[in-house]
Amino acid sequence: MPTVLVTDEIRQAGLDVLTQRNDVVIDRCWNRGSEADLIDRVVNADAILVGTTPITGRIIEAGRVLKVISRRGVGYDNIDLAALRRRKIPLTIIGSANASTVAEHTLSFILALAKQTIAYDRATRAGNWRFRDSLLALDLFGKTLLLVGFGRVGRAVAVRASAFGMRVVVYDPFVSEKVFGEFRAEPVINLLDGLAICDFLSVHVPLIQQTAGLIGRRELAAMKQTAFIISTSRGGVVDEDELVNALRMGLIRGAGLDVFNQEPLPPNHPLMALENVILSPHAAALTRECAERMDEVAARNCLDAIDGKLDPALVVPNEG
Ligand code: NAD
Repeated sequence: MPTVLVTDEIRQAGLDVLTQRNDVVIDRCWNRGSEADLIDRVVNADAILVGTTPITGRIIEAGRVLKVISRRGVGYDNIDLAALRRRKIPLTIIGSANASTVAEHTLSFILALAKQTIAYDRATRAGNWRFRDSLLALDLFGKTLLLVGFGRVGRAVAVRASAFGMRVVVYDPFVSEKVFGEFRAEPVINLLDGLAICDFLSVHVPLIQQTAGLIGRRELAAMKQTAFIISTSRGGVVDEDELVNALRMGLIRGAGLDVFNQEPLPPNHPLMALENVILSPHAAALTRECAERMDEVAARNCLDAIDGKLDPALVVPNEG
């Protein structure tokens, strides 16, 4: 019988999709499997349903009957694409199932940074009522938000930011004028031009060779000292060392970060000591509802591949 190898934790909704089929075997790794363990188990697997566990070339080579790798998410920097290409095995993602949730998380960072939510809470608890006169909080109305990357998440952020009366400016050379028009967003041709005018920068590009370090020393230096950076995409898109330096030197005012070079973020990481940063543990998509939606779609993608009826819209182009 066809087997689905589940390498990470899976929620009930996803499990239900798989267990409804009594002609499919589920092989669950209760702890994130090591590479050696996965090489052993993949031998009989028709599909791998994966969260953040690295799926290396060696695992893919060992999967002799493998028909799909189904990512429970939209990023796929933990998967060896070249190995999949060699074996002509498709990789699927969950499409727009997490876009609104990640956009909400992004807005929560923007709001908390603008309204100084954490500082106000601390001051109130400390009995510092006069903190109300600090005027550290800002309006979003009339502020400029630069979105770098205007795919599913970037567009969902644009809609929500527009509702607050923000001006939305976008850097994404791969998006058409028509789409910018639909979302009433203003494209910028040159990233540095956008950085110079924004009050908030939010990053929504995948981590690929071309985007690694996209926001580095030169880009940070182009920003206003009053600006904030939000990243819910992937660690490494914003150069972390340069970001720490910019936050320490006051080159920008603050940051909201969900993703890091190394995850979990090490306890002694310099970001941990910075007061002008809000952190979350790569949890932008992890509401209860969204986690279930993602697992459902990822499980369905496994079955669709086994049944030979994959939705092409959910297959990642992998021409190299
Ligand atoms: P998407 O593929 O729909 O959009 C990505 C956009 O980036 C595309 O419009 C593309 O044209 C643009 N882009 C690519 N290279 C670029 C470049 N060099 N400069 C400017 N724009 C560029 O992806 P999405 O669903 O919007 O998700 C975006 C990223 O967010 C994902 O790749 C993923 O890594 C990350 N993500 C993180 C979480 C989380 O839990 N924190 C959840 C969902 C997505």
